[in-house]
Amino acid sequence: MKRNCPNTQCHSPKIIKYGHYFRHNDSRRIQRFKCMACSKQFSTSTGTLEFGQKKRRVNYLLMKLFAAKVSQRRAAKIAGVNKVTVQRKFDYWSKKAAIKNKRFREKLSASKARHIQFDDLITKEKTKLKPLSITVVCDADRRYILYASPCQISSFGHLSELSKKKYGPRKSFYNENLEHVFQTIKSTIASTALIESDEHKNYKPMVNQYFPLSTYLQYKSERGCIAGQGELKKAIYDPLYGINHTLAMLRDGISTLVRRTWCTTQDPVRLKGHLEIFTYYYNQIYLGGLPSG
Ligand SMILES: [Zn+2]
Repeated sequence: MKRNCPNTQCHSPKIIKYGHYFRHNDSRRIQRFKCMACSKQFSTSTGTLEFGQKKRRVNYLLMKLFAAKVSQRRAAKIAGVNKVTVQRKFDYWSKKAAIKNKRFREKLSASKARHIQFDDLITKEKTKLKPLSITVVCDADRRYILYASPCQISSFGHLSELSKKKYGPRKSFYNENLEHVFQTIKSTIASTALIESDEHKNYKPMVNQYFPLSTYLQYKSERGCIAGQGELKKAIYDPLYGINHTLAMLRDGISTLVRRTWCTTQDPVRLKGHLEIFTYYYNQIYLGGLPSG
């Protein structure tokens, strides 16, 4: 890899190797460099997301635990680190996974999806009176999660009156989020793809706008077969099996999405990070990423 000086005012390509140091926390020998123009010294870790981390050894383990329905408190116990470290690692992985997922989508634009399915998963922020919706799109043939994006929605059904009384009116960002999702995934999907979903009324105009040449099929939604697992359907043949299975994997993999749980989402921003981490884990480790070549 060609390096330049990390000094933003310098950025000179004239750098020399300038010794090593031994990084104890992951037992690696790290190359140092020196800039010949401004004489700033730096190393291979300068400018990376991991720069300054003291417990690199637990990074990978914690990422897998975050994608395995383990609470942060339990993850701290398993990894043998402080819970503050776990919080920091969670924020680090949220950022890192978002970057990796973006790169993955860029790679996918060279081998676009020909068959996608999408749906929404309903969850909550602390209380059922503050519902959230997560729009999820998956590649139905290769199983990749193309994108999963959460947003606030207004409360509905028998809880809406109580919610208004207790927390005031709650704005819905559902349509903005749906638009954001379609914008994000547009380049990863073939224009003539087969697109499938249930009969939600907001879907059709969005699909027509972003994929006018696609074949779009909508199916009537079925009831779940196991109590609390609404995504796994009773029907012998479920035409939306791909997306329903993905939603079930999300519910099973992310501690705060499990129904009837102690762990509820405290903060929608954290939920977004958690979805990025799970998406990264699922696409690139569980499914093994894109075949090379
Ligand atoms: Zn320099």
